[in-house]
Amino acid sequence: MTRLILATRNAHKVTELRAILAGAGLDVELVGADAYPEVPDVKETGVTFAENALLKAHALADATGHPAVADDSGLCVDVLGGAPGIFSARWAGRHGDDKANLDLLLAQLADIADEHRGAYFACAAALALPDGTERVVEGRLTGTLRHTPAGEGGFGYDPVLQPDGETRTCAELTAAEKNAISHRGEAFRALAPLVRELLG
Ligand code: IMP
Repeated sequence: MTRLILATRNAHKVTELRAILAGAGLDVELVGADAYPEVPDVKETGVTFAENALLKAHALADATGHPAVADDSGLCVDVLGGAPGIFSARWAGRHGDDKANLDLLLAQLADIADEHRGAYFACAAALALPDGTERVVEGRLTGTLRHTPAGEGGFGYDPVLQPDGETRTCAELTAAEKNAISHRGEAFRALAPLVRELLG
């Protein structure tokens, strides 16, 4: 069976991507990047989600000799001109400090009224083969930013994004409910047929 490497060391994401790709009926062995501890993390030098997702997928495919998929995602706020965007994970300065990032964003938007609080999560999902072949697709989850966080689930900016058509924030949805509408779900469901086409 073809081995497909998931270019993330985040166990939560490996589980999420496994569920999405398994749901798409792919007959591949999915292995997280943790199985290759000797492969260094790639610098995210791209200026778009797609560029960064491709950088990560190619780095892992080149280093392991196996096809690799990667994603890059973030929150794009209308009134901030699309920021934090690719800087979402380090918006408050320290990479991965979800609470600081969320607090800073809410402070920046404190005076902005509900009708101007549109935002979306964006995700680029990329596939790279050791021979250099690549594919990249994008997904979005649009909604509105709350003034105060709500919900215990999810991660990152989930407690403040209320998807369009929902009364709950992403952090109040179950994992399955979020996967069904999420930017990552949409991107990986679009990538799955391309993986099937290239890997057989
Ligand atoms: P990355 O794709 O792991 O680089 O994620 C970038 C950052 O975007 C994360 O650290 C979060 O702050 C934010 N983000 C991406 N996807 C989500 C999501 O589904 N919910 C909440 N925050 C997200």
